[in-house]
Amino acid sequence: MTGTQISYFFHCYRHLWLFTHKIDMEHNSDLVAMGKFISESTYERKKHEIAIDDIVLDNYDYKTNTIHEVKKSDKMEETHVWQVKYYISVLKTNGIEGVKGKIDYPKLRQTVDVELTEKDEEEIFNIKNRIKEILDQEKPPAVINKPFCKSCAYFDLCYV
Ligand code: SF4
Repeated sequence: MTGTQISYFFHCYRHLWLFTHKIDMEHNSDLVAMGKFISESTYERKKHEIAIDDIVLDNYDYKTNTIHEVKKSDKMEETHVWQVKYYISVLKTNGIEGVKGKIDYPKLRQTVDVELTEKDEEEIFNIKNRIKEILDQEKPPAVINKPFCKSCAYFDLCYV
């Protein structure tokens, strides 16, 4: 399971299903492109990439045992925190203990510290089971009619 899937779980079940079933319209989204640009440019000089299981961390600092995530969003969201908690749990499962997370918001000029608790690990277990249930459905979940649908890469598919 990837961090992107964890993120989409919090965002929209339908988005999670469409993305995982390879219905790819992400290239249509300016927001996705902007996110990638900020992510790639902000830490260009101190990239330490690590790939483990299904996840790829663009910026894992070995010296401080810290995962850095960059979010282009102009607001902090629960999904960002859970994505990093998930990354920490994957590293822990692979024997890398004591990992911390930092989410950097360049637009807000703020950083959020993330830790993984035992309770979080239980919650991640539940989230992964719920994601499997959603993905096992034959058809995508219903549209959710949220304001952010207008900026979603799947807007045309869902509403037009
Ligand atoms: S447009 Fe809305 S309902 Fe459709 S996938 Fe995106 S967030 Fe979900």
